[in-house]
Amino acid sequence: MPDHDVLIIGAGFSGLYQLYRLRELGFDVHAVEAGPAVGGTWYWNRYPGARCDIESIGYSYSFDTELQEEWNWTERYAAQPELLSYLDHVADRHDLRKDISFDTRVESLRFDDTADEWTALLDTGARITARFVVAATGCLSKPLVPAIAGIDDFTGDTYWTWDWPHDPVDLTGKRVAVIGTGSSGVQTITAIAPEVESLTVFQRTPTYAVPAQNRLIAQELAELKTHYGEFRDESRLSVGGFPCGDELPPFFEDLDDEQIAGELDRRYDDGGLCFQQSFRDLLQSPEANARAAEYVRRRIGQKVTDPATAERLTPRSYPIAAKRMCVDTGYYEVYNQPNVSLIDVTEQPIERITGSGIRAGGADFPFDVIILATGFDAMTGALDAIDIQSRGKALRDKWADGPRTYLGLMSAGFPNLFTVTGPQSPSVLSNMVTSIECHVEWISDALEHLRARGLTKIEPDEAAEDNWVNTTNDAADLTLLGQAPSWYMGANVPGKPRAPLPFVGGVGTYQQILDGVAVSNYHGFELV
Ligand code: FAD
Ligand code: NAP
Repeated sequence: MPDHDVLIIGAGFSGLYQLYRLRELGFDVHAVEAGPAVGGTWYWNRYPGARCDIESIGYSYSFDTELQEEWNWTERYAAQPELLSYLDHVADRHDLRKDISFDTRVESLRFDDTADEWTALLDTGARITARFVVAATGCLSKPLVPAIAGIDDFTGDTYWTWDWPHDPVDLTGKRVAVIGTGSSGVQTITAIAPEVESLTVFQRTPTYAVPAQNRLIAQELAELKTHYGEFRDESRLSVGGFPCGDELPPFFEDLDDEQIAGELDRRYDDGGLCFQQSFRDLLQSPEANARAAEYVRRRIGQKVTDPATAERLTPRSYPIAAKRMCVDTGYYEVYNQPNVSLIDVTEQPIERITGSGIRAGGADFPFDVIILATGFDAMTGALDAIDIQSRGKALRDKWADGPRTYLGLMSAGFPNLFTVTGPQSPSVLSNMVTSIECHVEWISDALEHLRARGLTKIEPDEAAEDNWVNTTNDAADLTLLGQAPSWYMGANVPGKPRAPLPFVGGVGTYQQILDGVAVSNYHGFELV
């Protein structure tokens, strides 16, 4: 018999809930986590200004009604310390740590097709066997180290947003460079600008950021708690895993000019990513998209006083929302401060990092501190980092031309291995916690189903997988997603095949597909 029924890899939002759920169902389950503590994303990414971009009331578990009633989020968008203390609290409340091995990385997985079990080799030298493995390894957990020459030559302090020190970092009076203007860069830049002596931002592609309109939410939360359950139901059936008030927003072409302007004003002023739902076809219709993009460009121009800087900060080369939008708390205004400057690396390319700073466009810029906010090998990176083999084949070889999954949950030829928010599921296009709960519950139900029938193996059919890969690709082709060189398409990692990584059909639709598959006796899966 294997050591455990189920091995879970990772102890972030996904791994913690999967552990709780399976333990409640009476499975013998164990988790391993590469880090020394629970929290995943919110353990590692503790850079200044880190906070969620989905409202805290939705970016939280719904499975524990008492927790939901008791926990009081302070802000509309919680900051990293609050999110981490929430996950710590969940781990305490359900005594989850006793079943987690920390500081332990899974290096390889091998499937034994006769015994129907996986063997995990750990970086501690130990091995664990389990009938099933749930990879709760995270969509944004494998950092991307950019190919910038001389990165190790710098004699000042280098910090990575995804591995920020645990001791406070005092940037007062320092000359600081930030490379990268995605969500991590935008949050870091906004937070540190007031305290540093000088801040130089190296930007390759400007971002579309909309205001968070962050605020304290004590009263709103008290009101929500009178009907939190309904809110969660709505979240699960919504497009993005978080209700945007109006689940079926209008099509762009059904609105006249005044209504379009009103809708954009309303969404922008309300703040947050619901701006993307100003029009139902914002990511499908080039006209709708162009109008929303132009709106955000205009707002950037209103916020930044120097016209040349405003122009550099204005995104023009890709459709809005085709790359992850940012939710900001005063980002653009930072460039009006005299101590902040912007370097566009398409005009002044970074040549190398030197002992004393950064050489770009033939000029040397001296710094005390360099902060890299250069992103992740998203969705497939953490899975590819594990040498996963079954029937003489490696998962990373199977996925060499792009991921192939059935429902983003499993891959044919790799039985009994589930991925939480895996590629080709809504995952990063949604409120991730809604998508995590959806997957954890589906996986748990499937394992119960197998156990009740004395079955030991579950695997997708090749045909079902081919259909799902085509569905995912076709759905993405109906959108403007492919027009942006983004991490959604694998475009940020040199050599990574370009393929749409998330499923774009929406959380509600996807949930219904999963439910349908389960009630039709796990259609498309072979149960042995
Ligand atoms: P993670 O939190 O990434 O946890 C995975 C864990 O697995 C990690 O702790 C890692 O150490 C561990 N692990 C990986 N590989 C191995 C291995 N081989 N062996 C052992 N352990 C391993 N999403 C939203 O919906 N809203 C947000 O506001 C939001 N903000 C974000 C902010 C930042 C800075 C980042 C980076 C991501 C954000 N995301 C957000 C996405 C976020 O990753 C998810 O919301 C969520 O936290 C993912 O939880 P997870 O448990 O699936 O993965
Ligand atoms: P990211 O969005 O991929 O941004 C990375 C940035 O680094 C981009 O601006 C990129 O430029 C730049 N870059 C990369 N290599 C570079 C190089 N060699 N030279 C110059 N610039 C370089 O990564 P991220 O900011 O960490 O965010 C990743 C995702 O995590 C987000 O999209 C979001 O889903 C999540 N996240 C959310 C929040 C939040 O608000 N809650 C915060 C952080 C992260 P290009 O655009 O040109 O590639």
